[in-house]
Amino acid sequence: MNKIIAQSIYDDLKKVIVNPKCELDYNNMYELIIAVILSAQCTDKRVNIVTKQLFLKYPTVQDLAQADIFDVISIIKPLGFFNMKAKNIIACANDIVANYNGQVPNDMEELIKLHGVGRKTASVVLAEGYKMPAIAVDTHVNRVSNRIGLSNSQNVLDTEMMLKKWYKKEDWANVHSTLLLYGRYYCTAHKPQCHSCLIKDRCKYYNENSK
Ligand code: SF4
Repeated sequence: MNKIIAQSIYDDLKKVIVNPKCELDYNNMYELIIAVILSAQCTDKRVNIVTKQLFLKYPTVQDLAQADIFDVISIIKPLGFFNMKAKNIIACANDIVANYNGQVPNDMEELIKLHGVGRKTASVVLAEGYKMPAIAVDTHVNRVSNRIGLSNSQNVLDTEMMLKKWYKKEDWANVHSTLLLYGRYYCTAHKPQCHSCLIKDRCKYYNENSK
């Protein structure tokens, strides 16, 4: 892999994933960070159904900070891991109210201090919500990056660093969304659509498995 090949891969993937967008519904930073926390191990579609109800009941971060955990659990139950997720989103809301004056911070170091927020969630908030350069590496981004050969590590931080090495800072947020959606719809975990893939000639996985 080198920067020229990496760029050509991204250019071709952009022809398939045109204008990539976050598939979580949100209206403000509070809703975005809560939706991203809830999306762990769950589809965005399902999260959107639940958050519609959740944000109707708790329209502000202050409302969620004061919520009764059992009421929250009853709403988010369809998402799985509901005990932990309910605890985390209420604690996160409390952190934002108590330490950030009700505003979601726009800084990685501060974001990862919030309950339930790891580097991946923080990167999504920065890139999607604040339009800042960040690459969130989730299971799709990691799988696709490793298959293609953009990364050679299952460690998400290593993959993030390698992607940041290949691509220009101004493209980081879109590189994330493009790889994520390509992984979600084309280079899927169990049935990658290699036959019609525009980058198969440069893909490590294809070249190793097509013979
Ligand atoms: S060739 Fe196959 S494995 Fe490689 S990126 Fe395309 S779909 Fe994924």
